[in-house]
Amino acid sequence: MGKVSLASPVSVLYGIGPAAADRLAKLEINTVYDLITFLPWRYNDWTSVARVSSCESGNEASLYLTVMSTPSVNIRSRAKNVSFMAGDESGRIKLMFFNSPYIANKFAVGDKCFVHGELTYFAGTPQMVNPFMEKADKVNTSELVRPVYHMTAGITSRQLSRWIKTALDLCGEELKCCIPEQVMQKENFVPMAEAYRKVHFPETLDEAASARRQIAFEELILLGVGMKLYNRGTSVKEVAEQVVPESGSELAKDVAVRWKKIVEGLGFTLTGDQRKAIIDIQKDMMTNVPMNRLVQGDVGSGKTAVAILAMAMTALMGKQSVMLAPTSVLARQHYDNACRILKGSGINVVLLLGKTKASVKKEIKEQLRDGEASVIIGTHALLTDDIEFADLALVIADEQHRFGVKQREKLLIKKDPESGINSVHNLVMTATPIPRTLAMVLYGDMKTSVIREKPAGRQAITTWFAASKDSSDTRDALVSMLESGQQAYIVCARIDENEDEISDDSIIGREGSDESEITSVIQMKSRLDETGITKRFPAAVLYGSMNEQTKLDTMEKFLSGEIKILISTTVIEVGVDNPRANIMIIMDADRFGLSTLHQLRGRIGRGKEKSYCILVSESKSELALTRMRLMCESQDGFELAQKDLEIRGPGDFFGTRQHGIPTLRAANLYTDLTIASDACDAVNAVLAKGGSEAELLEKNIEEMFELRFGSKMGVL
Ligand code: ADP
Ligand code: MG
Repeated sequence: MGKVSLASPVSVLYGIGPAAADRLAKLEINTVYDLITFLPWRYNDWTSVARVSSCESGNEASLYLTVMSTPSVNIRSRAKNVSFMAGDESGRIKLMFFNSPYIANKFAVGDKCFVHGELTYFAGTPQMVNPFMEKADKVNTSELVRPVYHMTAGITSRQLSRWIKTALDLCGEELKCCIPEQVMQKENFVPMAEAYRKVHFPETLDEAASARRQIAFEELILLGVGMKLYNRGTSVKEVAEQVVPESGSELAKDVAVRWKKIVEGLGFTLTGDQRKAIIDIQKDMMTNVPMNRLVQGDVGSGKTAVAILAMAMTALMGKQSVMLAPTSVLARQHYDNACRILKGSGINVVLLLGKTKASVKKEIKEQLRDGEASVIIGTHALLTDDIEFADLALVIADEQHRFGVKQREKLLIKKDPESGINSVHNLVMTATPIPRTLAMVLYGDMKTSVIREKPAGRQAITTWFAASKDSSDTRDALVSMLESGQQAYIVCARIDENEDEISDDSIIGREGSDESEITSVIQMKSRLDETGITKRFPAAVLYGSMNEQTKLDTMEKFLSGEIKILISTTVIEVGVDNPRANIMIIMDADRFGLSTLHQLRGRIGRGKEKSYCILVSESKSELALTRMRLMCESQDGFELAQKDLEIRGPGDFFGTRQHGIPTLRAANLYTDLTIASDACDAVNAVLAKGGSEAELLEKNIEEMFELRFGSKMGVL
């Protein structure tokens, strides 16, 4: 066996065979480092056991009990349940185990045991179902606090504990410290290996809690600072030319004239915030430090125009730019927009999708290589290795939360062997409103331009709530909008009776409701067909798993007005822009979180017409009704995000997936946010000062970042 290191696959450890390695992979544990940093989600604490008589129904309890009746398997039950009585001096409880007939042989009358589980009363008798139970003589006094890990089939907490111990014994010393010396002292932190030992094998809960806090510090430093170091480029080639005239200045150059023409061709006047964002971008691009900028603006604030103008600016400087969109529908829409805006400017725009025909693709790639195409729009198809650019200067990721960081990285680190320059300017567009402190950690390395102002002439969207699916008001509203020449979206929570939108984490809440009551896209279509509405106003369906070409064709027909009603899943949540669609009906609206509802609603109200959003839900859930009410009351994404946090508690709104960051193990992005900014500030201060501590810290952070996040920043 070769030397085991933190980066080694878990299978190098004694006791982990291929089957166990596969199971660990399900828990996202691939390397020895992953194993060590896989933290318990809770502990069974037998340092202070409760008494049976003092336990309240519905609470978890740790008990010290004596087995009082012989465990026997109920052979008549299909679940092969085992039940028996156990108790302490204060009282007796019934222990029940389902699907675990082996339990019967494990315990006998008189055995003293530690038991942990939820205590409930059944017919007046206290009982625990499937508790965690261990004979007292098998538990060392130093092990009275037992870690409990999130499990997958076939692996027990005990096994995990043992493997983690082996891993720490072999490689614990390789865990580098990423926390500045000064913070270590102030917080009384211990060497990292010790912190991990304490979190996995604590003697008391307090010890575990302080170790976890230290690990959270480290994790947030890795995220907030590590990402910055990871994304850091050396420098960008030449200093860019000024293209956008500052207000009041007379930039009479040829490029400025061409620029003016492009801006005039937009068909509208830029808002102040849009203009400011463009100036910010130009300023960044005129230095040879790679730009890292986030453009944050609520849905409908006009980010696309900013992106396209940034690309035009780059083209006028004689360089290439790429815009990545999360879906082909969106990429096509950006492409059409860019073609329209840049028509007659001499700037060559190309579209590259996964489905693009091989022969066309080949031609486009040639244009990218010889520099003939300067504005490139596409999906992930662009992120393959065999694409070469003549002079790529700018990469824009639209709706960034849908991408993994690693994907962007692929374009960023195209190294030029001659100059050694390994970076391009980087611009990210997002509509996801996030609080400042969170942004600091997630995008700590980025400067931000906020587009707050909505384009002029927008009317507020009127939102109302329909408590019944058969409401004639809803149908009347739909028909009257269609009759006045408008188009409509109808959004459903599922595709057909059997299928939800794949990997759609925007759908929430299943408790208590009957799945068959959810109106699907397909049902909706046939219902409309029955009423005859679709004879007068053609309707089509759209969902993610449809054939790519059909999707694009459908979208095109909807944009051209040939299709009047688009019945879809949340695929239209992202970016779709049809200013003539001014009514949206969201079926089973209780199924969507506030952020999704807000993004969906952002598809309408994009033109000058009055628009309407109707939330249809027959749910009686108070939480769902609160969400509907908030939607009816507010149209501000930031306000809704804040409200969502308040009503749902932290953790839901920003499913970390939405940001393309991996799940955090120790830190909580809400409760630990102040830690995060303090810790990152401390690190940045040390790094800025330079010297030997800075050097070591930087090296450690890079090393640990790679282990912790490096391989996981990939495709969502
Ligand atoms: P988002 O920020 O959600 O990506 P879009 O870029 O799709 O928003 O813009 C929404 C709509 O507003 C589009 O139809 C776009 O043409 C229009 N728009 C953008 N900027 C302006 C402006 N300054 N004045 C008027 N309409 C604008
Ligand atoms: Mg957009």
